[in-house]
Amino acid sequence: MSDSKVQAVSVTTATEQGLYVDPVALTAHLPALGYSDEALFIEKVSISELVAHYDTPCYVYSKQAILEVYQDYSDSFAAIDHQICYAVKANSNLAVLGILAQAGAGFDIVSRGELMRVLAAGGKASKVVFSGVGKTYDDIEYALTQGIACFNVESDSELMLINEVAQKLDKRAPISLRVNPDVDAKTHPYISTGLKDNKFGIAHEQALAVYKQAAGLSHIDIVGIDCHIGSQLTEVEPFIAALDKVIELIHSLKSKGITLSHVDLGGGLGVRYIDETPVSIGEFANALLPKLKELGMTVFFEPGRSVVANAGVLLTRVDVLKPTEHKNFAIVDAAMNDLIRPALYQAEMAVIPNRLPSDGINNDDTQPWDIVGAICETGDFLAKDRLLSLATGDILAITGAGAYGFTMSSNYNSRGRASEVMVSEDTHQLIRKRESLESLYADEILWQDK
Ligand SMILES: *Cc1c(COP(=O)(O)O)cnc(C)c1O
Repeated sequence: MSDSKVQAVSVTTATEQGLYVDPVALTAHLPALGYSDEALFIEKVSISELVAHYDTPCYVYSKQAILEVYQDYSDSFAAIDHQICYAVKANSNLAVLGILAQAGAGFDIVSRGELMRVLAAGGKASKVVFSGVGKTYDDIEYALTQGIACFNVESDSELMLINEVAQKLDKRAPISLRVNPDVDAKTHPYISTGLKDNKFGIAHEQALAVYKQAAGLSHIDIVGIDCHIGSQLTEVEPFIAALDKVIELIHSLKSKGITLSHVDLGGGLGVRYIDETPVSIGEFANALLPKLKELGMTVFFEPGRSVVANAGVLLTRVDVLKPTEHKNFAIVDAAMNDLIRPALYQAEMAVIPNRLPSDGINNDDTQPWDIVGAICETGDFLAKDRLLSLATGDILAITGAGAYGFTMSSNYNSRGRASEVMVSEDTHQLIRKRESLESLYADEILWQDK
């Protein structure tokens, strides 16, 4: 599939009226998607068939697309001892985790809830690293009891808490310090995490002192060092700059008698949503490998977005067309509660039709549309000023929706969350039921006057 994919050519045309995303050119870049007889398919299943079975809004993922990316990481770093720890928060559906666990993946978690999911999906605790700035006593206790590979520690107070919990459990806690290398990931400010003024990690200058503190604690085993500088990085330079800073620290630590067994470079590799040109996994690996080989340590990676983003689409139906004097609104049955990336990060995601217009792409019906949800918020949009030919009842696919899509969804406006479906070759399975409306208030309790 991906072998035949082309690189870097723009798939859009910007006009005064709006942006045209060529659906055929776009899907040439997306491993799981393609048109056949003008109908959209994911792997060998038509979108029409999926909509008939599961209705909309519905998230659909391609099993092969997920596995291909995982394999690409694995193959690209085959020359060194490595572990790919998929970042669960990107897409935490049990089916996704189970497929990755079976392929040999480890996991990067940020909560006790994510660890429970990983274990429920058949993942091994011994391949789990625990990231996050606010680990609680209960989080730490659960993770220690399950026997995770490493706590990625983000502050000295967290370090003390982990030592305390480990002492109480009569265990030793494996730790790594998340250092903040102060490099600019050149990505959206909300997903940039490696700068001095971000809440994440331990400042580079403090790292040595905190490592010395850790070495003096009775129930702590220092095993590694980690960093994670941001998300949707399209260039390799920030990764190299961060690695250089980390290597510097590894050498200083060694000279002070602290030796580490692994280095964890976090996640953050970007994907092509529309016209972005991120470095490929192979190029990313080639740039880092010389330095990593020289280091001779086990290397962990924590990719999330790059593994699942382009394996998924969100399917939605056009419910209402509302042309106004200034703008045309297409109100669809998915909304910001289903997919918040456009509203939260100003993310541009492609919206493509389930059926190509038979009279070609520049037909007379093509107009600029804002694709919006039915939620009472002006920020409730999925895409703006897109040139499309639309009719009510049409099915649209929002591509790149496999990462930070369903996991960031909510019940705002008392909307049940979408169903999720996995496709593999010519088969499909429901992997999460559409949330019932009754379930939304099932845990709520009426006030009783006494
Ligand atoms: C979110 C996160 C990741 C995954 O980032 P992606 O951009 O999805 O690859 C990895 N590590 C940590 C610590 C994170 O917070």
